[in-house]
Amino acid sequence: MPFKPISQKFTDFVIVRDDSRCINCEVCVRQCSYEAHYWDDTRQRVSFDSSKCTGCHRCAAQCPTSCLTIRRNPSEFRENAFWTPAFIKHIYKQSDTGGILLSGSGSPADKPVYWDNLQLDASQVTNPSIDPLREPMELRTYLGAKPDIAAFEETAGTFRLKGEMPPQIRLEYPLMFAAMSFGSINFNLHKAMAQAATELGIVYNTGEGGLHPSLYGYGANTIVQVASGRFGVHKDYLNAGAAVEIKVGQGAKPGIGGHLPGEKIDEEVSRTRMVPLGSDAISPAPHHDIYSIEDLLQLIYAIKEATRYRVPVSVKIAAVHNAPAIASGIVRAGADIVVIDGFRGGTGAAPTMIRDNVGIPIELALAAVDNRLRDEGIRNHASLVVSGGMRCSADVVKAIALGADAVYIGTAALVAVGCTLCGRCYTGKCPWGIATNEARLKKRQNPDVAARRLANLIRAWGHEIQEMLGGMGLNSIESLRGNRDKLRGIGLNQVELDILGVKHAGR
Ligand code: SF4
Ligand code: SF4
Ligand code: SF4
Repeated sequence: MPFKPISQKFTDFVIVRDDSRCINCEVCVRQCSYEAHYWDDTRQRVSFDSSKCTGCHRCAAQCPTSCLTIRRNPSEFRENAFWTPAFIKHIYKQSDTGGILLSGSGSPADKPVYWDNLQLDASQVTNPSIDPLREPMELRTYLGAKPDIAAFEETAGTFRLKGEMPPQIRLEYPLMFAAMSFGSINFNLHKAMAQAATELGIVYNTGEGGLHPSLYGYGANTIVQVASGRFGVHKDYLNAGAAVEIKVGQGAKPGIGGHLPGEKIDEEVSRTRMVPLGSDAISPAPHHDIYSIEDLLQLIYAIKEATRYRVPVSVKIAAVHNAPAIASGIVRAGADIVVIDGFRGGTGAAPTMIRDNVGIPIELALAAVDNRLRDEGIRNHASLVVSGGMRCSADVVKAIALGADAVYIGTAALVAVGCTLCGRCYTGKCPWGIATNEARLKKRQNPDVAARRLANLIRAWGHEIQEMLGGMGLNSIESLRGNRDKLRGIGLNQVELDILGVKHAGR
């Protein structure tokens, strides 16, 4: 009997098959990329090994007779409020492997979600609400530096802004698809985001993996990212997008770099990233040319020179303790957009301890950064974008009321195309065909179908945002930005309310 690692003896999930309905069609065998289902030659029927199950639910969703159920393993350890099963299983895994624990997706840790403690206002008798079905409701927003004073000149009865506006990104919804690199997710998803963004009049972000040559045509709806690994970065790439984003940090893994395993570097990824086929693509933790705000300024202006000052330059950081001071430095270094990524932000792979223990909630970081930039009188010098934990349109509305100009959605976009947050993206075997470059798996995502689902999601959220704006008596997203009087806290202490800059409900 071969040695079975102790971690596999305590499975997270159990597979339950209703044998009276199973027709032995082997669909589950083909659908499970972790080989939890298999054909048992001895018994001449399908069988399973629950220890291999990641809880992705792909088999249950595809079973033609709906006879599969995936449950949390009901077998429990002795109750212990301190040594929870997660800690015990982590130790089993590490003593089996000797390696660091890895996780995909955003942190599931049981920590406060401030969105859930914020309630929106609604108009009643005075300042009546607005019906978005009958009256205009503006969701369009522009990202980029705004002038200190808006001066106008009149020519033959028409007014024009005096002077040149800095470069802007125009968004028809205050939503963008977050950075997810080519390689960590596959080409079909990148194409779907590019198509959906173009159809909607918003943008998607390449992430740090470069831009596939066949997607250059979607450049007007693309933000191209420059990260510490400089994968796929060249002059044409920088000039292909509507903006360039310098990624300094990521909410899911602040302070550490990235690692795309060699198994995910196929020919297309290798060509696009400009890395050898099958070799690991390692992004260093720091940019080796950025050790100060002055260094960052040099890179921002090098990119502005390379793009002839046509597009805004954005800088993305993780939400950490001193985010307001860092954001202030970034704006003073010439960035047109600052992106703050919260600790709930998704990732293809992060050390579990980092993902669940480093960084701060995006709600607090956003409010603190917006305050700091306002206090310093430089809020208009850059737009503020947040990412990392937008689960629904109400989260978006609350983020904008706290001071964001727009938000990135990453995990929600993946969920829209089937992701079940199983957290095993780092295996490269995503059964939903998302975080995988295996040919048989990635074809599970049809770019046209995925693009339609993504566009549907953004439109649905757009309708809901309009409803919420109208309910508050506002007719444009601009009127909501930083309008914290439209928020009230419930169940928050005074320190939290002070940081968020909102009153408690009842006041
Ligand atoms: S997919 Fe469903 S019906 Fe087919 S073999 Fe698996 S469990 Fe049985
Ligand atoms: S890993 Fe996914 S597809 Fe495989 S058995 Fe578990 S739920 Fe089913
Ligand atoms: S992308 Fe795939 S592997 Fe990653 S969490 Fe979602 S379903 Fe799981």
